Amino acid sequence: MDIIELDKKYVANTYARSPLVAVSGSGALIKDENGKELIDLGSGIGVNCFGACDEAWVMAVEAQLHKIQHISNLYYTEPQAQLAKLLCEKTGMKKVFFGNSGAEANECAIKCARKYSSDKYGAERSTIITLENSFHGRTLATLSATGQNSMHVHFGPFPEGFKYAPANDFPALEALCDSAVCAVMLELVQGEGGVNPLDKEYVVKAAKLCAENDILLIIDEVQTGNGRTGSLYAYMQYGITPDIVTTAKGLAGGLPLGCAMLGEKVENTMSAGTHGSTFGGNPICAAGALSILSRLDGALMDEVKKKGEYVKSELEGAKGIKSVSGLGLMIGIETEKDAKEIARECLDRGVIVLTAKTKVRLLPPLTIKQEELAKAIQILKGVIAK
Ligand SMILES: *Cc1c(COP(=O)(O)O)cnc(C)c1O
Repeated sequence: MDIIELDKKYVANTYARSPLVAVSGSGALIKDENGKELIDLGSGIGVNCFGACDEAWVMAVEAQLHKIQHISNLYYTEPQAQLAKLLCEKTGMKKVFFGNSGAEANECAIKCARKYSSDKYGAERSTIITLENSFHGRTLATLSATGQNSMHVHFGPFPEGFKYAPANDFPALEALCDSAVCAVMLELVQGEGGVNPLDKEYVVKAAKLCAENDILLIIDEVQTGNGRTGSLYAYMQYGITPDIVTTAKGLAGGLPLGCAMLGEKVENTMSAGTHGSTFGGNPICAAGALSILSRLDGALMDEVKKKGEYVKSELEGAKGIKSVSGLGLMIGIETEKDAKEIARECLDRGVIVLTAKTKVRLLPPLTIKQEELAKAIQILKGVIAK
């Protein structure tokens, strides 16, 4: 039986998969089972931030594999401690909780915000405000946090205590921030929602409102984090200091790792026994993340910004394109043609692109070579124009 048939027969039907069986890769090039080479403008979904099998990353992960693959979080490992230190040094956050995914990172943020508030003000102050059209994960609580009604079916009852505000509407946010609110949680560029950056002025005002009312500001950087938008974390371009930052996707360069970074207010909120994870922050993933994070420097961020501007300048005003949105190498393209159709045709022509709602979405490896990027963008333009 071929792989696609095998998968269809035995793997749960939770994905509308595209017909590509990925076998191997190097940087932004992915090989399928027939040896066909494709240029990758998706990095998984913003996960393989240094592309496939980056040499230094492979060496770091392999070296740790030869030492020890796991020990319970009841004990210590060097990679986890070093990674937490590096994250705090690079962000100014104070402590890090490690999980395995974006949803788990957000679960920790939600629990931490509620505990901070209930310790200080009592259990009634537990509401978390998120935005309409947001995406925060697939667990029950993070689905509740996700401001999309279409996600709030089938699996009820859902955890309570979430309210949704329209994006970029400060008066609406202000009106929802009553005495029962403990946190506001935002993606600075809505990823799954269609690559929509928030206005800077709105974000700055929201941060000020939160600070004045001791409402915690949680920034979900699961997708925008780790260099994707041209700064280590997107909040750094908005001139705000969040209380909690969550991230995952690109953090470990392709291994499962998520984290919630805890700022000054909440650094001691979570005490022994209040939260945990069997696998979270395991030494293999942490070693991979150390290799990635230590190379996300200013020079690479400038490169990300430059490549992002190049893609925008190529696409803006091109035939069949209505608009281009995004930040750095997180790019959404509004097209006249159906986005899913475009993604299928690109795949046929050797380019992997993603979609988000009705848009084509690009999340190429941060280290993609300019020639590869240029070639893939020409193919994409051709498909969109046709
Ligand atoms: C992908 C994503 C998540 C969920 O991450 P998982 O690793 O799939 O749990 C949460 N928030 C945002 C903004 C995301 O893009």
